[in-house]
Amino acid sequence: MKLFTVLRYLWAFPNTAIGLLLLPPALVSGGTVKRIRGVLEISGRVPAWVLERIPFAGTPAALTLGHVVLGCSEEDLQRWRSHELIHVRQYERWGPFFIPAYVFSSLSARLKGKDGYLANRFEAEAFLRQRDVT
Ligand SMILES: [Zn+2]
Repeated sequence: MKLFTVLRYLWAFPNTAIGLLLLPPALVSGGTVKRIRGVLEISGRVPAWVLERIPFAGTPAALTLGHVVLGCSEEDLQRWRSHELIHVRQYERWGPFFIPAYVFSSLSARLKGKDGYLANRFEAEAFLRQRDVT
């Protein structure tokens, strides 16, 4: 593993650690864990339960926390993989500042009368660039 790769993982690790907290309960409850392209993808009842409680418009099918992606199901993870990989890259750039910056972007959009999800700069980048991920 190259030094730069190690640094990207370390910089994003505070967020990854939050996602890793769900690993034991997900496994115990029969969930699935896969390592794909350097990212741990966790799906099953426990991630689905968590995602249902995220205060977004509707339940997100997947959510990225550093190098962990939570999904309601393996199908959801596959469908959203290219989008979530853009978020992984964003975590690698922003590190521990990603979540506050993401929330700030949503609040800023709402204050301008826009959608807090679709007008979020990080979501806009993910939707724009997700097709570039193969
Ligand atoms: Zn997204």
